[in-house]
Order: sequence, then C-alpha cells, then structure tokens
Amino acid sequence: MGMLVSAQAGDPWDVVRVGRVDYVTLASFLKFYGLQGPGEIDPRRSFDLTGPAGSMNLSVDSREMRWKGSRYWLSHAVRQIDGITLIPRVDLVKTFDPILRPNVEIPKQPLLGVVVDPGHGGGDQGTRAARGLNEKDANFDVSRRLVKLLEKAGIPWVLTRNKDVYVDHGDRSKKANDRPGYIFVSIHFNEDSDRATTGWETYALSPQYAPSTSSGGTLIGDEDEIWPGNQYDHQNFLLAQAIHRAAVLSKSNAPSDRGVKRARFKVLRLARSPSVLVEGGFMSNPRESSLLKTEAYRQQVAEWVFEGILAYKRSQERPEDTARLKFAGTSVPETGSGAGTNRTVPKLEQVPNFRPKTNGSPAAAVVSPTGSLGSKKPDSAEIGGPEFRPHMNGSIGVTASTQKPNLAHTNSAETVAKKAEPTEPEVRRAIPVAPRKGE
Ligand SMILES: [Zn+2]
Repeated sequence: MGMLVSAQAGDPWDVVRVGRVDYVTLASFLKFYGLQGPGEIDPRRSFDLTGPAGSMNLSVDSREMRWKGSRYWLSHAVRQIDGITLIPRVDLVKTFDPILRPNVEIPKQPLLGVVVDPGHGGGDQGTRAARGLNEKDANFDVSRRLVKLLEKAGIPWVLTRNKDVYVDHGDRSKKANDRPGYIFVSIHFNEDSDRATTGWETYALSPQYAPSTSSGGTLIGDEDEIWPGNQYDHQNFLLAQAIHRAAVLSKSNAPSDRGVKRARFKVLRLARSPSVLVEGGFMSNPRESSLLKTEAYRQQVAEWVFEGILAYKRSQERPEDTARLKFAGTSVPETGSGAGTNRTVPKLEQVPNFRPKTNGSPAAAVVSPTGSLGSKKPDSAEIGGPEFRPHMNGSIGVTASTQKPNLAHTNSAETVAKKAEPTEPEVRRAIPVAPRKGE
C-alpha cells in the first residue's frame, strides 16, 4: 500500500486517521510487540494475535477483545480499510500496552492500603431493582466483608462510609487522596431494563481521548479533558483487570463476563490513586438478585474483589510472581536505554498524533469520505467534521456529528449513553447505575 505511511526513521508507528480517531496500522503494532498475526485478515472472522503474553482475539468493526479467557472493551472498533487493518492509538497505549508490558517503564505503586467505597447511602438508595434489598445496603454489606478480609491479610483499609449516610463523591475520593499508596475500590451493583441481563462489569477511568464504553465508541466531546485519576491509567487498568479476572474466571459460581469497561464516573475521575469501580451483578435479574440476598454469595463477591486486589498488589511488588501479567517478550527492550529508546510507550504522546504533511509528501494517510485510504490535506475531519461510523453491513460511511462538546464535564456514563448512538446493543444494555447525586 504505497499510499500508506512511510514511517520516519526511528518512528515505529504508522498513524492513520479515520474520522476523528487516530489509529496505528496492525503491521506496526505487530512489529513493535513481536506478535504473530494472520497474513491476511478476513473482516468477517475474528483473528488472533499471539505473543509471549498469550493470545488476543479481535474482530474488524468491533471493540471487543478477548485475552486469556476474559473480555475487554476497546475504546474504538478495530478497522479495516483497503485491506489495511487498524488498531486504535489510544488502546495501543492504554489497553494493549498494560497487557503486553505491565511492568515496563511505569514506576510501580506498592499497595499500602485500600479505600473501600460502598456506593450510594442515605437518601441515595442506588438501584432498588431487587425487591427487599437496596443497592446501598448490598454495597455496604459486601464492603464490610471485604475490609474483614483485608484486615485478616494485614492490609490497612478505610471505608468511605461506615453507616447508612450519603457521602459526597469528592469526599469519597479524598479518603484515597489523603493516603498516598492506597488504592480506591468502589462497590456497586447494576440494573437493567432487560431483566435477563446478568453478569459482572469492572470499570477503569476512561483515558484521555477515549470515549466511555457505553457511548458505543462515539466521541461526544468530553474526551479531551484530563482528570486527576488519569495519571494512574496504567495502574487503573491493571487493577480493574485483576479484579475482573478473579470474578469471571472463578472456578465456582463465576458470574457471566460483561467485560472490563471504561467510564468517567466521578469517583474515578477525582481519585488521585489507582482506582476501580465494580458492578458486581444485576439486581434486576431474578437469579442474581436472589443470589445477592444470600450472605454466602455476598461473601463470595467480597472474596473475588479481595483476590483481585491481592493479584494487583503482587503485580506492584514482585512482577515475576504474576505469570499472567508478565511480559516475557525479548524483542522489546524493557528499559529505555540504547536502541530501545523509541520502542517504549509509557505515554500517549510518544505515539505520534496523526499529523498531515502539507508539502504533499505521503507521510501519513487519512480516510477519504469514500472510505479509502489516501494522502490528503487536512480537511473537516480534523476539526470535528464528519465522523466515520460503521453501517449495518459493516462498511464505513460518513455521518455528520451533531454532538456539541459538553463544556461542563458533568456527563455521567448514563447521560453519555443517552446522547450517543450505541453501535452495539450488548454495550448499550450495560448502562451502569449512575449515582443520583452530583453525577
Ligand atoms: Zn450503584
């Protein structure tokens, strides 16, 4: 594909823009991480990328990724245009890199304690979808069980509320902000208008430039802001996936796997610490709500979260102990020394933005409105112009964006979901319960 990027010397990334989203070519992704992929990718079938960290399963026009038995949501769909497969740039850095190289370049954050946050409280009941059990009470009960486990393991803990009162989101996050080395773990349960919906979701804060999972991958204008919690993107993801895997890969009673997701929940935005929000099941589902009414299952939920915290703790101490988090590759140097200096991706800025050349040289590619790659001068796609969205048949088409940026940054995942047009019903149904105050 001669049209495509001729990478500058020392720059391993071929960057392509589709609508308002930057992508890197799959070829440069595979090369950087030393992964194996199929020679040709059939857009109608999922494909595996294999390397020392295991096998990752992806599909064209999908945000879903499977890795070692559990499910992850990318910020944007994988694309294929003119036979070139494209990986979202923000996911390269914020999802794939922590999976493939959890231990490189980012300083470890030894875990010194846990702030446990029972969601809602007082007049804020949370979901009441389960008759006879309020979410705020289930959150509190599971949180108390969790701190007992932490206590037994000698891990310091703090609760954001120790009785049935409403606590402001800022005050919840402050408990972690005031305690360097603590992580923040918020406990919630879910609801959905479809009573058949079940399963476990684990949320990490959306990285800068990434839409929330519930938006269906649509950029709505609140993505550019960087929040205090974003300085912990790498740890946030490692913590979320550790708790998620402990639950959904459990040998007994494992809840169904709704994936590691992203959202800009207020408690996650404000936390100056690695943080996570757990949606430990659907109170609107008859089976899960009757399970949640039993002490045994609430204890089980607390134990899954606890096991995940322990796995994360180990990953920040002796990475060699956590085989499943270990990057065993030899093709990418683990330090920034010598030849490896431009092969490390600790920060999004180190993967260049798409920058169109104005001198006419084919240094980068954008997608033309007809959906084919070409060397083009910057156009409306640069400044909030047409956005490319998948059509029902999977082809790429243009849709004018009518979303206005929300300058107040008050979006909860719920309002995001209402405003956006989700492309995947599965995700739309997974709208998390949004706290009713302040969100
Ligand atoms: Zn909740």
